[in-house]
Amino acid sequence: MQPPAPLPPVQPNEPPPLPNNTHALPQARQPFNKNWPVHYLGKMDVICRSCGAFHWMSERLVNSSNRNPLFGMCCTSGKIKLPKLADPPGEILNLLSGQDHIAKKFRENIRKYNNALAMTSLGCKVDDSVNHNGAGPWVFKVHGQLSHKAGSLLPNEGQTPLYSQLYIYDGSEALNYRMSHAANHDLDRGTMQTLQDTLHNHHPGVAMYKQALELTANMPPEHQCKIALRFDERTDRRRYNLPAASAANEIAVIIPGDGDQPQDCRDIVLYRRHGEPLQYISEMHPMYLPFHYVLLFPTGQLGWHRKMLHADVPEGPAQAADDENPVNNNEEVSRKRKYVTQMEWFCYRLFPRVDESLHLFMSGKLLQEFIVDAWAITEQSRLTWIKFNQSKLRIYHRQGIADALAADPTVDTADLGHRIILPSSFSGSTRNMIQHCQDALAINRYYHGADLFLTATANPNWKEIKENLLPGQKSSDRPDLIVRVFHAKMKEMISDIHKNGIMGRTVARVWTIEFQKRGLPHMHMIIFFHPDSKLRTPEEVDSLLSAEFPDEETQPELFELVKSVMVHTPCGNDHNNPNAPCIVDEKCSKNFPKQFQDQTVVTTDSYARLRRRDTGKKVKIG
Ligand SMILES: [Zn+2]
Ligand SMILES: [Zn+2]
Repeated sequence: MQPPAPLPPVQPNEPPPLPNNTHALPQARQPFNKNWPVHYLGKMDVICRSCGAFHWMSERLVNSSNRNPLFGMCCTSGKIKLPKLADPPGEILNLLSGQDHIAKKFRENIRKYNNALAMTSLGCKVDDSVNHNGAGPWVFKVHGQLSHKAGSLLPNEGQTPLYSQLYIYDGSEALNYRMSHAANHDLDRGTMQTLQDTLHNHHPGVAMYKQALELTANMPPEHQCKIALRFDERTDRRRYNLPAASAANEIAVIIPGDGDQPQDCRDIVLYRRHGEPLQYISEMHPMYLPFHYVLLFPTGQLGWHRKMLHADVPEGPAQAADDENPVNNNEEVSRKRKYVTQMEWFCYRLFPRVDESLHLFMSGKLLQEFIVDAWAITEQSRLTWIKFNQSKLRIYHRQGIADALAADPTVDTADLGHRIILPSSFSGSTRNMIQHCQDALAINRYYHGADLFLTATANPNWKEIKENLLPGQKSSDRPDLIVRVFHAKMKEMISDIHKNGIMGRTVARVWTIEFQKRGLPHMHMIIFFHPDSKLRTPEEVDSLLSAEFPDEETQPELFELVKSVMVHTPCGNDHNNPNAPCIVDEKCSKNFPKQFQDQTVVTTDSYARLRRRDTGKKVKIG
């Protein structure tokens, strides 16, 4: 880390601003003025000229102007050009957008329908404990690795057919199997039938499976009755659609040899029926998404693959060196290579656009699963890249072993085995966290201690989120909007505090963003004031901080805000709320209720104790 530039010298005789001279105070320390505007990002109606994505003006790249805004998040200023998300067939669109009972029920159970109809299964540990107490919106949470798996083409003797196997049965038989599955008892038979028929008619995967089954029927035993669904990424670098169902035989190929060859990530290998274990689908296969998310990609539109070129790269023969790296998600590599990364692909897809189907954003719980999947496989790919490129990270390698030994002096180096070292640039790795922590401590030491600890939480009721929901949606259906609004507001808050100095002159900040259990992001920021702006007296503290209710008569908006989002809900046995999240060992871990306090008290070596006068007034919460 670069050492911070030294502070400009402070004139010792320069008088500090007088606390009673309110005009000299920074804006946030002046008495409340009801003409202060409530923050609003404006309408999400600025359109990216390159890709047509809807934006708020404040999402533009900082080096572009309001008159000619450019955007990076959606398409990296035009570098990424993907074909439009294919419209879903009318039957599926009706279920996604309808306001009748059947459509609403469908959306409530959309993950179950998708699972019942998917051609591959989702392998991961789903943590449903967050949804158990019934309060708050549903959350999709997973632990550990995530994978998609495919079974054999036919079920084993005596077993119930599952997943893709159901597509080779005729309609009513498959429907019976699906509806009799224990997980699907509360689903609607008519809806399932509609979806099943629609996929039979539109999803090329169905024809592919049938084709594969036919091809394996008379196979000689040395082929082990297996077949690969292969996508030749080199011949098709800007046309990303599957061939029509009639051309399914171009994709299903017989793999020569006895099957001991390593499996290529371009192949999805299917066994006819041999009690073979479930086959993993490589997340680098472009059918990874359409085979599992059949309701999001009902026409079989292909997902990401490794050889998608950036829009500004001339099409040419692939260079030999391209094949050496298994993944091009590493940013440095992708900059050189000009290929679209998985991350860029998903970012592109997660923006609503003019003239593009919005059905992805209508799919609620399935959208959440899709986003979690996207994150998990993107991270897994980055880890894979690191695993195969350890020699390029040699400098970290040695340091990593040293760290391992330092962390545990009793460790036997032989037990370290083949250790994969994560570079400190890998977000979230231990080394990355330690590095950030050390930076933060260095900043704290340099500026002789911090002044403010600020927490900002995403509010699902923010106007910007509410006014961009699709008909009938709740905020929790749109994690994409929540994080975008939070990010944009956070940027403006940082600029208000540090550029515009609304709380006083600041010299440094350290912050972190976390996601709460319910999926809402929040930020903790530590703020360091310039010596001129430090809060030294109780009056100065009171000018910026308050632990009291604002006056209901003169500050009604502020009063309502504090009442609805800033009060610690009464907790513990005394308040009939023994299971509040703050309760640890039958006591409030945040020390509520707090004592009244007539005056703010400032000490040099501890937190200020804020004024909390006993006015005798009572406010009912909730
Ligand atoms: Zn764009
Ligand atoms: Zn409490």
